[in-house]
Amino acid sequence: MALHDTTGDPALDPTAEGGATVHNCVAGEWRDPSGERHPITDPGTGERVGTVGYSTAADVDDAVAAASEAFADWSQRPVEERIQPLFRYKALLEEHQEDLARTLATEHGKTLSEARGELRRGIENVEVACGMPSLLKEGSGIVEGAAPDIDEAGVRQPLGVFAAITPFNFPGMIPLWFLPHAVATGNAFILKPSERDPITPARLVALAHEAGIPEGVVNLVNGGPESVNAICDHEAIAGVSFVGSTGVARHVYERAAAAGKRVQAQGGAKNHVIVSDSAALDFAAEKTVSSACACAGERCLANDVVLTMDAVYDEFAEAVVAEAEAAEVGYGPDDPDVGALITSEHRDEVAGYVERAIEEGAELLRDGRDVTVPGHEDGIYMGPTVLGGVTPDMEIAREEIFGPVVALSRVESFDEAIETLNASEYGNAASLFTERGREAQQFRREAEAGNLAVNAGTAAPMAFYHFGGQKASFFGDLHAQADDAVRFYTDQTVYIERWPGE
Ligand code: NAD
Repeated sequence: MALHDTTGDPALDPTAEGGATVHNCVAGEWRDPSGERHPITDPGTGERVGTVGYSTAADVDDAVAAASEAFADWSQRPVEERIQPLFRYKALLEEHQEDLARTLATEHGKTLSEARGELRRGIENVEVACGMPSLLKEGSGIVEGAAPDIDEAGVRQPLGVFAAITPFNFPGMIPLWFLPHAVATGNAFILKPSERDPITPARLVALAHEAGIPEGVVNLVNGGPESVNAICDHEAIAGVSFVGSTGVARHVYERAAAAGKRVQAQGGAKNHVIVSDSAALDFAAEKTVSSACACAGERCLANDVVLTMDAVYDEFAEAVVAEAEAAEVGYGPDDPDVGALITSEHRDEVAGYVERAIEEGAELLRDGRDVTVPGHEDGIYMGPTVLGGVTPDMEIAREEIFGPVVALSRVESFDEAIETLNASEYGNAASLFTERGREAQQFRREAEAGNLAVNAGTAAPMAFYHFGGQKASFFGDLHAQADDAVRFYTDQTVYIERWPGE
């Protein structure tokens, strides 16, 4: 077991059965939720590393009551005062980046480098939220003489209690898309992380309190669907952020909106790469395999369908297979190239997609399904797998796989590639490898996805740009991060002042 030393960590109880027990945190008090307890497993070894209790509607109620009480005072503090603990939070997260990364790699299965990278991306959100005084000015300018004797201004104000429901694949980053912005804008916050890797999020909450964010301002509720539904329905919650699969995103969006809340719900994905006949093929192959297979393919920005121009298809396929073969699969905390998948059920689902693709006529160019990692025989592993001859009608080309699988498709023209990409029901991300500016321009203008990249494998926006998809990858209006987050967490009051002249 490679968890950090949990002794003295308020978020975890190291003496309880089954390793570290993750508690809820309500107004700074760490306590067990009232529902059933479930194991937390290290997918790289198959060993149990912890226990998490599931919350009931009553547990959610307790957290909302604590957050509502804290909001009354917190929202009245000057923004300059609200951001001071965020500067300390950034420093604390950096101080703990290594032990957090080790814990994250252990409970999730990803590699140590990937865990470090996602924490860095999370910390960047804290840095952006430290600039909240400037961000709040946006759209708040005063217009003198808006009408005779009248000056008019827009004023951004916090709304109350916000909750974020987050997925398993980035437990160290995605909670930080929301927490710093919610707090800096003057709201109180409840985090409901994935039940599959809740240790890292619990530590993020403990460090937020250590940084000086008042305890009731940031609360933690663990659990599954019951806690999510209770959040959607709770009348004292002003808004809900959700990140997860499309089916649940749609459910949360509809249920929370019906209960009168602001909702931003980021869903699943099916992302494409276009490889032009002008592309630097070895570079494109390296970036494509990394995009599809990093984090064992468990990324909403993974580009796994590769639309390759006919003239370079064979040469590119060879380069992709070589890259896939070179990737070392291993135990995440040992920092290999590709770590473990989250559960054995999920690995079986991914393997099932590969099997059905072969039945539908795809060619298996590289099979990563039978990988074992010496010393970790009970771990949940799958190596990079490459399928060729994939056509748009095949299941593997249409559905999210969330595993380390690259699907290569031939296209006759650049226009056909754009049409195929746009026919997807999802619109999270897309990449293009090209040396032609004209193709890059057409791609930017026509590709229907929220995150686009040219000559980069993964279109991941920095924290000072918003993060969100289109079509079935997103439900709502305002995305996570940056200026969209400021607008999501505040309402704008228009303020009019008249002083009739002499
Ligand atoms: P998931 O939908 O299973 O779980 C996400 C959250 O929803 C968790 O907190 C979970 O407890 C809760 N949940 C699960 N089932 C529920 C139900 N029936 N009712 C109510 N709540 C429920 O997603 P996951 O497997 O944890 O994460 C992977 C998915 O997230 C992929 O589809 C991926 O594309 C997506 N994702 C999207 C983005 C994005 O920005 N668009 C980012 C990361 C992950």
